[in-house]
Amino acid sequence: MEKHICNRCGNSDQRFFGIRNGEIYCRKCLMFQGEKADNSYIPKSCKANMKFKLSKKQEEISLGLIENFKNGKNALLHAVTGAGKTELSYGVIEYALSLKKHVGFALPRVDIVIDLLPRFKQDFKDDKVIGVYGGNHEELEGDIIILTTHQLYRYEGYFDLIILDEIDAFPFKNNPELNYFFRKALIGNYVLMSATATEKDYSIVENDNGKVFLLMERYHHYPLPIPVFIKESSFPKIQILNKLLFYFKKNKPVFIFAPTINTAKNLGLFLHLFFKNGRYVSSESPDRKKIISDFKKGFLKYLVTTSILERGVTVKDLQVIVYLGHYDIYDQATLVQIAGRVGRKINAEKGEVIIYGKRETREIKNAIKFIEDCNKKAGL
Ligand SMILES: [Zn+2]
Repeated sequence: MEKHICNRCGNSDQRFFGIRNGEIYCRKCLMFQGEKADNSYIPKSCKANMKFKLSKKQEEISLGLIENFKNGKNALLHAVTGAGKTELSYGVIEYALSLKKHVGFALPRVDIVIDLLPRFKQDFKDDKVIGVYGGNHEELEGDIIILTTHQLYRYEGYFDLIILDEIDAFPFKNNPELNYFFRKALIGNYVLMSATATEKDYSIVENDNGKVFLLMERYHHYPLPIPVFIKESSFPKIQILNKLLFYFKKNKPVFIFAPTINTAKNLGLFLHLFFKNGRYVSSESPDRKKIISDFKKGFLKYLVTTSILERGVTVKDLQVIVYLGHYDIYDQATLVQIAGRVGRKINAEKGEVIIYGKRETREIKNAIKFIEDCNKKAGL
């Protein structure tokens, strides 16, 4: 039998091909259908109005990314959590737009796109910044397009510059279709950004006409908090309860990560018997936006959550507890992201990351070592 390759998503797994009305179709990319950008919009030159000044090191990298793009090269920016990597891309975005190039800023997860949009709209006040994600794709063209990686299929042969942030995040990571759409959308160069990039990622980019940029220091120059592993007791929930009480006495807000929706719900119900000033929240909670906003405002003092809060959300003086840390879902990258929630704000640069679990897994050890190495590379 003839071997098919889907020209839309690159799928070559024959099991996903079917025949409808005498024509072959691919089931892998069935959901990626819809209007495409028609390339009619000509971007205008833009200028970012940043509220703060870049540090010397940040400035260096920002200029390096511009120079790199000028030379037609790709880039990987490995910046630790809380380094302010979004702003480091503004320079190269401005430069590309000054040449009327098409610029996209892509992220795997829709909630982070929605989080980032107002920030870009504020920083690029005079420019047309649009968001494109599931349920929001009436308008496809603007000066700066912030989109989920799922929407890249609408932009075949379109972008001269794609900033691709959070490359280590689900669902982009290890997803061949999304990677294929990314490649097809790009006609120029990319800047990948990650807080958890490894030597392997470095060499992939270096072998792809790219250069690696490192920013191992947070913008406030304090070291990254190192997670501490504590073996769980026979009553792990009581252990969490005690730790929570300890933080409440110091008036510190707390995230508690649980590995699954069920374990999060159970722990949330248990803790709520004792402390009414917190909630359980997951990707399935219909009121999660309000819960998160109440937490940010300080109305709630703790949240029990699944991985939905591992990225993006920043709260001053936050402390983090990981519950059932031996579960497989906690791989190195996830733990590095989770630990990265702590100590991000000025005047609250320190904090605790406690991982409770039956045993200290290889991933926990690797995450701790990874963070220690980042601090070492930064000379901290
Ligand atoms: Zn396909």
